[in-house]
Amino acid sequence: MKEKLEVIRAEGLKKIEMATSLEEIEEIRRALMGKKSELNEILKSLGNLSIDLRKEIGILSTEIKNVFSSKITEKEEELLASLSVFEHPIDLTLPGKKVLNGSLHPITQMCDDLNDAFLSLGFEVFSEDDISSEKFVFDNLNFAKDHPARQMMDTYWLSGTENKQANERLCLRPHLTGASVRYLLKHGAPARFVYPGRVYRNEDVDSGHERAFFQYEALIVDKNVSFSSGIVLIKAILEKVFGCEIKVRMREGFFPFVEPGYEIDMECLVCKGKGCKVCKHNGWIEVMPGGVIHPNVLKSANLNPDEWTGFYINIGLERLVMMRYGVDDIRLFHSADLRFLSQFK
Ligand SMILES: [Zn+2]
Repeated sequence: MKEKLEVIRAEGLKKIEMATSLEEIEEIRRALMGKKSELNEILKSLGNLSIDLRKEIGILSTEIKNVFSSKITEKEEELLASLSVFEHPIDLTLPGKKVLNGSLHPITQMCDDLNDAFLSLGFEVFSEDDISSEKFVFDNLNFAKDHPARQMMDTYWLSGTENKQANERLCLRPHLTGASVRYLLKHGAPARFVYPGRVYRNEDVDSGHERAFFQYEALIVDKNVSFSSGIVLIKAILEKVFGCEIKVRMREGFFPFVEPGYEIDMECLVCKGKGCKVCKHNGWIEVMPGGVIHPNVLKSANLNPDEWTGFYINIGLERLVMMRYGVDDIRLFHSADLRFLSQFK
């Protein structure tokens, strides 16, 4: 048995010496010292031996086990050390590689700021899918069947649904307002919520128009929403976003889903109302249409117009960002040009 142990020792040491990787050394450790190793088998069978032999073999086995253990540790350290040896000397004086930090798109930043402003006033943030239907983008919103706005909006209809109607005629939403009825049908009234998102129009692209752009709409529905509370809200939001007092004015505007409707302008912050390229030299920027929710829209949302009223604000997100930074070409925001976008960190 002693001879057998010596063979185990010699072969084991040879294997450890020949090992070339940490995985291999781990395998050798299991084979030489694990539960199923020859050495362990011998140790288990010591009980069958005479007392003297048991002692002798026991001592020798333990000695071999200790030798294996220290040789394996030595080999492991050697392999680890060889892993961390650099093939080439390092020149610590070379300049490092610059890490490019990303940043939020200016429109996302504006959207977040508006969300914060509205959330602080008790509004909820709601979103729906970009694909909507004729029912939600026109029917529910008091657009008559032959209303020219259905063409005016230049909606992208989804192919295959052209001959269908209402809920089954699908489109990329040309505005966000459809989401308001969707929310009201689900949650009922009273309600105060915002619903930011992308909208799509089949338009000619120029410095003021894009085919896909962001809108930001808000709606309050309650029993006693006055027109003046709408104006107070708009001023409060703009002042929270821009951090200064903002002058607003309202002009009459027509949209099927409001009665009465307004175009809401804010004083140009770039020139303080004196006139500049950004405001096309009239001192005011048209930032949002809005108005009192039309009774027919309330009916679409299963609400009684004699009981409920409400106020819409539709914020042109890009316009506000253009105002914030004095940018005069809307296309830059979608250009994915890092020279432009990295200015807004
Ligand atoms: Zn201006």
